[in-house]
Amino acid sequence: MTARVVVLLGPPGAGKGTQASRLSVELGLPHVSTGDLFRENLAQGTELGRRAKAFMDSGRLVPDELVLEMLFDRVARPDCAEGYLLDGFPRTLPQAQALEQRLEASGASIQVLDLAVPDAALVDRLTGRRTCSGCGNVHHVRYAPSRVAGRCDKCGGELKQRSDDTPEVVEKRLAVYRQQTQPLEGWYRSRGVLHDVDGDRAPAQVFESLKRAASEGAAT
Ligand code: AMP
Repeated sequence: MTARVVVLLGPPGAGKGTQASRLSVELGLPHVSTGDLFRENLAQGTELGRRAKAFMDSGRLVPDELVLEMLFDRVARPDCAEGYLLDGFPRTLPQAQALEQRLEASGASIQVLDLAVPDAALVDRLTGRRTCSGCGNVHHVRYAPSRVAGRCDKCGGELKQRSDDTPEVVEKRLAVYRQQTQPLEGWYRSRGVLHDVDGDRAPAQVFESLKRAASEGAAT
């Protein structure tokens, strides 16, 4: 059986993490988020986490060679043998090319689901986001407030603002996205694997569209 790789593309705040968690269950593919992998490394105080920290804190991209080594290590694990769902990768052309080479070598298929959300909504979503320091669950001060202020609904853990969700860093992350990641839309479109999804709707509606796009483009 050929492995199936699904990529969730879209700017920071487009809902990739939230949607990927659900889509991963729906498609039966492990959710692989490079941002989460970096944050785990940071929390564990690894050398990789230490090297990535300054880039993450300032809203810049971590250099490709660090990202690629970490990602390819992760997807070499047995749970990814039949495929995986990528969230936050690729973010640069060299990353996309490295992934393409790897997938070509193994004959795996790729689908890219591209979430579009206007900039104003992205800033609002990101700066109001509060993430649980215990389980990673995400709340929003206005759109998804927790029942008890400052505490996660799922596990009761402390809710914190990610250090890169402050207004200044969010502006930088969006600029970096436009410059370095958005060109991937055209690159994947020319390969016939890009599906456009309107991400500026209620999460349940976006999820339905993602499911449909994933089933339309699935290799037979
Ligand atoms: P995310 O949680 O996906 O928004 O990622 C948080 C931060 O981790 C980004 O702002 C980057 O600094 C870094 N990062 C995550 N994925 C990548 C990637 N594919 N390439 C470069 N840097 C990344």
